[in-house]
Amino acid sequence: MADLPDKDAAFIDWYLAVVEAADLSDKRYPVKGMNIWTAYGLRARRRLDQVMIREIEAIGSEAVEFPTLIPETDFAKEKEHVKGFDAQVYWVTRGGLTPLDVPLVLRPTSETAMYPTFALWVRSHKDLPLAVYQIVNTFRYETKTTRPFVRVREIHFFEEHTCQVDDAAATRRVHENLRAFAKMAADFGLPYLALRRPDWDKFAGAAYSVALDAPIGGPRTLQLGTVHHYRENFSGPYGIRYEAVDGTQKLVHQTTFGLSERLLGGIVAIHGDAKGAVFPVAVAPFEVVVVPIPAAGAGPAVNAAASEITERLRAAGRRVRLDAGDERPGAKYYRWELKGVPLRLEVGRREAAERTATAVDRFGAKGTVRLDSLESDVATRLDEFDRTLRERAETRFRASFAPAATLAELAHSDRVRYVGWCGAEACGHEIERAIDGALLGTPEERFPFETGPPARCIACGVERDVRWAVAAQPI
Ligand code: ZN
Repeated sequence: MADLPDKDAAFIDWYLAVVEAADLSDKRYPVKGMNIWTAYGLRARRRLDQVMIREIEAIGSEAVEFPTLIPETDFAKEKEHVKGFDAQVYWVTRGGLTPLDVPLVLRPTSETAMYPTFALWVRSHKDLPLAVYQIVNTFRYETKTTRPFVRVREIHFFEEHTCQVDDAAATRRVHENLRAFAKMAADFGLPYLALRRPDWDKFAGAAYSVALDAPIGGPRTLQLGTVHHYRENFSGPYGIRYEAVDGTQKLVHQTTFGLSERLLGGIVAIHGDAKGAVFPVAVAPFEVVVVPIPAAGAGPAVNAAASEITERLRAAGRRVRLDAGDERPGAKYYRWELKGVPLRLEVGRREAAERTATAVDRFGAKGTVRLDSLESDVATRLDEFDRTLRERAETRFRASFAPAATLAELAHSDRVRYVGWCGAEACGHEIERAIDGALLGTPEERFPFETGPPARCIACGVERDVRWAVAAQPI
């Protein structure tokens, strides 16, 4: 098999090659940007979903599912939102041979599907907060080059929508969502920044948006998700009112929290290396692969040990795969490394006789597990692997940033930059032109590393009320 392209020198080529070689997605479906979830990719996606479900339900959200189609009359109610999505929606205009009276939109996101119903569900302060989420496919007519998981036209989407009594309660929800994401990201081993987007780049219809951005090498970043505070921007047009304790009618304040299959793209992009994908244990389609090494005269003993290991790990709740095919062991090692399995257990003649297995993790760390203590030995190995994965990602994350004191330093930058910014839109656009990318925004809480305060706006030189802002090239 051919080597993968170099990750640093040709990142996009490397990314596409890993997704294909690891068999995470099949892009040969005849609609651009709509890819097939392969068995292996779907296993990873389901793991992601489980982590998201665990954390969102821990903060009180309940799963619902709304229909895929939205009547144009409902879609068009919030003007900013429509303006933002108009060019991206797919329309259904015919039912069979009959033109529809009201054309239908394939949901690009579900505000306009849900909020007419929220107006029916919410009556009194006792109905609040309302917090629901769904994991569904959404559709966006993407005109830029599509990439598996990162930019697609049919998106595996996670969206939480909440209604709150007031602005303060909605702000608290935004921060609960950010904390929930921090827990998910810990499982995924993904370091990121939570950045409040500048006004010109917020979600269509939001009062403000906080995006979760991860550096993925050089000046590039990947937006992993977003949390939005809508205030009354949607509840007004959709009439989502409640009777307050004092008997008055009030509009709810709303929030949303969106994540998608991009997380899988982020995991491939951030953890992957020259040998292929690397999965954190929480997401790995298989945590362990067991490879018997054929040995003359010891075949039955080797196979029996490999089967015992597989069955016991499966009984212990591990996702384990026995690779007992006819290929050479070396070809199997190569394939499972490419597919990013955290731990490989090799069983040969000596191991079978000693009731052990040779354990090699995806980073090459080697050791021995004993069958007497198989389950706990494997748990220890997987914990160590996860720790290494997080440390590697954290080290690269810190090395991804550098301050810039002049606009000239932003040109041809080899890092993501943080710069002093006065908050003026004109200065923001100057910074964007200088880095040939975007001003991603200002930290919602604080940077996860030491920066000291900024001295002046990098664009206009103003020294008062200057904050750090992050400039990068989002992919
Ligand atoms: Zn300025």
